[in-house]
Amino acid sequence: MRGQEKSSQHFVSFALTKKMTHWQNYLKPKTLDEAMDAFANAPRPIIPIAGGTDLLLDLEQGRHSPVQTLLDVTSIRELTLLEQRGDELFIGAAIPVNRVALDPLPVRHAEALTEACDLIAGPQVRNVATLGGNVAHALPAADGTIALLALDAQAEIIALSGATSDNEERRRSGVARKIPFKDLFLGPGKSSLKHGEELIVGFYLPLSTSHQASCFKRIMRPQGVALPILNCAVWLERENNTIKDIRIAVGPSGGTPFRATQAEDTLRGKSLSIKLIESATEALLAQTQFRTSARRASADYRQHIVSGLFEDTLESAWERAG
Ligand SMILES: Cc1cc2nc3c(=O)[nH]c(=O)nc-3n(C[C@H](O)[C@H](O)[C@H](O)COP(=O)(O)OP(=O)(O)OC[C@H]3O[C@@H](n4cnc5c(N)ncnc54)[C@H](O)[C@@H]3O)c2cc1C
Repeated sequence: MRGQEKSSQHFVSFALTKKMTHWQNYLKPKTLDEAMDAFANAPRPIIPIAGGTDLLLDLEQGRHSPVQTLLDVTSIRELTLLEQRGDELFIGAAIPVNRVALDPLPVRHAEALTEACDLIAGPQVRNVATLGGNVAHALPAADGTIALLALDAQAEIIALSGATSDNEERRRSGVARKIPFKDLFLGPGKSSLKHGEELIVGFYLPLSTSHQASCFKRIMRPQGVALPILNCAVWLERENNTIKDIRIAVGPSGGTPFRATQAEDTLRGKSLSIKLIESATEALLAQTQFRTSARRASADYRQHIVSGLFEDTLESAWERAG
């Protein structure tokens, strides 16, 4: 074995013989303090890994440069909690998407998210792929990401606080903060997280009250490798026959996860009708910036099919909120 073999009271490290060209150390902290300790002291570059369903392929296929240290976040307790906190739902970043799809809390308060998580890949992948990894990979059509955007999520981030020459000090200085979900994204595959310094702890979602509901749908080729051709999530609040408030997310449009704010403005405060849906679809088409993806669909095709997907998703959310 060429890799370093280390152990400390804070983390376990072991070298893996098969993947020596991609990483040298594999750390599995159990607490956020231990994770911050690793960020402060482990050999760099250091990168978090959860289910590995995106990252391992990227490393093996050369889309990610080799790293010295992989930091496995799946045993950190705070990242594996799923619970109600006051009037919010907290979903830990390292929770596999199959658990999100089945847990009664998101089923009740975040239908769009459970539907998205239930459609990701197949059962084997869903058992290990995490919601945090889906988001941190920063793709504008990731299913969990599009649902969280429509659900007005906030992300909790923990960061190694300001650099200091005293490692003991750095080890204890993780600072947590909540940020609006959309602030996580800079471009396709590019999150705003600081490399080797920040982790997503989890996501906060407002709890649903009566007459609020959401829905997620997507269009995907049966033989599709990973991401859908198009996906859409709608959250809305209904007051009798009127849309009191609404949020619409569509992926992929542009380089970051996209909110169809013009369609939202068209629908807000109005009664749902065929004519209104047509106007909202026009507003959505005017704002979307579909791109051509080599393996999935052309921009023209996406432009052509988005109306039906949007209408279906909107009507389902409307009926659920009734
Ligand atoms: C066969 C197959 C089918 C798929 N189908 C779909 C699909 O239908 N829809 C879809 O949306 N995706 C799909 N995916 C993509 C993938 O499964 C998801 O994006 C998955 O949720 C990523 O989570 P992970 O835990 O595996 O992340 P990893 O691969 O472990 O990590 C991904 C990225 O996130 C970072 N990261 C992970 N956790 C954290 C954290 N807590 N804080 C900060 N950074 C973190 C890593 O450093 C890395 O950059 C598919 C993948 C495969 C292999």
